[in-house]
Amino acid sequence: MDTVLLKGKPVAVGIRDDVARRAAALLFDPTLAVVLVGDDPASTYYSASIERAAAKLGIVTRLVELDSSDGPETVASAIRELSLDAAVHGIIVQQPLPDGITQQVVEEIAAEKDVDCATTYSLGLLMTGRETFAPCTALAVLEMLHGHEIAVPGKHVVIVGRSTVVGKPLANLLLRKSERGNATVTVCHTGTTDLALHTRRGDIVVAAMGRPGAIRGDMISEGAVVVDVGVNQIDDPESEKGYRLVGDVVFDEMTGLASAVTPVPGGVGTLTTALLLRSVVVAAENAAARK
Ligand code: NAP
Repeated sequence: MDTVLLKGKPVAVGIRDDVARRAAALLFDPTLAVVLVGDDPASTYYSASIERAAAKLGIVTRLVELDSSDGPETVASAIRELSLDAAVHGIIVQQPLPDGITQQVVEEIAAEKDVDCATTYSLGLLMTGRETFAPCTALAVLEMLHGHEIAVPGKHVVIVGRSTVVGKPLANLLLRKSERGNATVTVCHTGTTDLALHTRRGDIVVAAMGRPGAIRGDMISEGAVVVDVGVNQIDDPESEKGYRLVGDVVFDEMTGLASAVTPVPGGVGTLTTALLLRSVVVAAENAAARK
């Protein structure tokens, strides 16, 4: 069987073009506030990459840096201020938050600015099928499938991972009675007995585990579509950096078996920032419509 490589870049290009066009059509600068608490290297890197990507599309970013020694009330108050600031259209709080800063602080993000669906309220809207921004990574999986013309309705999608940022919201999006949903969904986790029994039943298998190489060829049925959300850093003395990034899926074992597979890097992760910025533009358009 020929295995199609589901690259993120061609899909991301279309999303970015759309975002740039819509940002240019606004009479004000669409603005994303990025809240960074502490100095987690991955969060710092991600904040800088959001800023670069946003600038290219005509979106302004406002980086709000707070110290990890600032208490939760200081962080909550900064987020509250951004929620009240009419010049800010989207807010993202970088995760993980340092020890001592409770997850509760994200609840201060106003619903209309919650572009990564971080609050309990937004997640509730998502679960009940109402209008809200979806978490970017979960959305990236749907956009990847749609962008490569892989239909979801009627399919059995097996998701491995039940986190609040990926697995659970993705399951909810796939369950929606819509053109990009209407799937039958199975969600697996560490309590699942015989994981392979379930993954072999999937027309589409989504791995979101954070376990390098956990999904092997013998766990997938011939012709399945395999979407690898995992991003894991593993030691590689031969690489310049001393490490490389791999997914949760053993990519080589999918060739000739799966009908399609996403690479890591270059797959789902390529779409997340573009989708975050699209949500910022939508939030800005909504703000303009309310004026
Ligand atoms: P997480 O919060 O650690 O959740 C991992 C999930 O996988 C949990 O539900 C866990 O089950 C399940 N799991 C772990 N090992 C398992 C196993 N052996 N068998 C069955 N289930 C297993 O991670 P996350 O935040 O969802 O992220 C998942 C992966 O996606 C990570 O590699 C992360 O780096 C990546 N990610 C990528 C992007 C992107 O832009 N591409 C964005 C976000 C995350 P339990 O609930 O039972 O513990």
